[in-house]
Amino acid sequence: MDEIQTQYQFMEEAAGYLRDIESEIGHSLRAIVVTFGCQMNERDSEKLRGILFRIGYGEAQSEEEADLIIYNTCTVRENADVRVFGRLGVLKSLKREKPHLIIGLCGCMMQDGETADLVKKKYPHVDLIFGTHNQHKLAEYLVKVFREKGSFEIWSESGGIYENLPVSRKYPFKSGLNIMYGCNNFCSYCIVPYVRGRERSRKLEDILREAEGLCADGVKEIMLLGQNVNSYGRGLDPPASFPELLGELQKIEGLKRIRFMSSHPKDLSDELMEAMAGNDKVCRHIHLAMQSGSTEILKKMNRHYSKDDYLEVIDKLRRAMPDIAITTDIIVGFPGETEEDVCQTIDAAERARFDGAFTFIYSKRHGTPAAKMQDDTPKEVIQERFDRVLSVVRKTAEEQAKRFEGAVLPVLVESVNRSDSKMVTGRIPQNHTVHLKGSADLIGNILNVRLDRSMGFYYIGSEA
Ligand code: SF4
Repeated sequence: MDEIQTQYQFMEEAAGYLRDIESEIGHSLRAIVVTFGCQMNERDSEKLRGILFRIGYGEAQSEEEADLIIYNTCTVRENADVRVFGRLGVLKSLKREKPHLIIGLCGCMMQDGETADLVKKKYPHVDLIFGTHNQHKLAEYLVKVFREKGSFEIWSESGGIYENLPVSRKYPFKSGLNIMYGCNNFCSYCIVPYVRGRERSRKLEDILREAEGLCADGVKEIMLLGQNVNSYGRGLDPPASFPELLGELQKIEGLKRIRFMSSHPKDLSDELMEAMAGNDKVCRHIHLAMQSGSTEILKKMNRHYSKDDYLEVIDKLRRAMPDIAITTDIIVGFPGETEEDVCQTIDAAERARFDGAFTFIYSKRHGTPAAKMQDDTPKEVIQERFDRVLSVVRKTAEEQAKRFEGAVLPVLVESVNRSDSKMVTGRIPQNHTVHLKGSADLIGNILNVRLDRSMGFYYIGSEA
């Protein structure tokens, strides 16, 4: 019996325990998976929910009404850890009110063994702890909790790729789809390679089978997920490549839109740009983390490209796809960063003219090479530099947004507008948000919409 069949057996066994508890306490049990962090975590949470619902849990809408709470954690920056520690206190009082409540923590923060040990010691009300490499064993660990009141297991290495587990998707019309796991780039500030393991790609046929299944199920837009999708296929036997994958996905009839993240600039080849430009289903948006505009800092970050290399990739992308939107990540305050380095970053941002940027102040992650680098730049100096960079990227993003004003573009309607129930909200292929008059029955449809007014970071539109 293979590992997946074994896990389905544990799901049956856990279902038995669930029925016993339900008849004991007189009501059906509900679960909630709270996701911190990136889209990779969102997709992992859909798999965790799939296992829990297969066991027989209902879906709780809040932690207060849940009988099982799982935090799928993130550790990419310090504040992600702080948020989880902040919540653990609240969970303690919830458990006091509901003794049969099960509390579990998994994901990147727990994959760091020291942090997992700390939680185990300091927060005994946490019943279940596992990492990023063994999430497929949730049912097995739950059986252990039912039997022995606790389960704690972190795998130091990835055990492989586990296919065909139950999944419960958040959206009927769009879905994330993992194409690979882990990262081999070891950017000096980044904790991801230490908590997500070495790079490993899924087989091409497994990805295509999943994509066909999603489209048969009504999905129109797929977000291909990986830490560095541009290196998809390395080491696969039979070999495969990201451009090849995009070409195969284009053949799937029901699939209307392909998005992907994250891309590493050093691996964005001319071949990939051609494949994107020649594929009418690839959305005209790319998130291409620059991190810094200073070649000196990029070297210290171990990013393997210079300022000029990065700007050249941007130029090539715009020549190949003039209507492409480009967003990025920028870190300010990396150890040893000087005023001159920040000026280089501002100059690069002005020349790149990003459509949007996530701008962060450097967060030391223990265990990374950058954590050992000295820096005594005062916080207020870093904050002032951060504010300058932010104002430049905001200004160019607002100017860039104007270029689609008046255009008619396809919008995938995703939800009813939060602040006006007579409006709906969706996205153009360039990933900008659009609000237009409409009702919930439009959700999941792709409409041709005229972008009447740019409001800076979103548009007001009308059906064309
Ligand atoms: S490419 Fe660099 S920043 Fe991105 S996940 Fe890998 S190590 Fe981290």
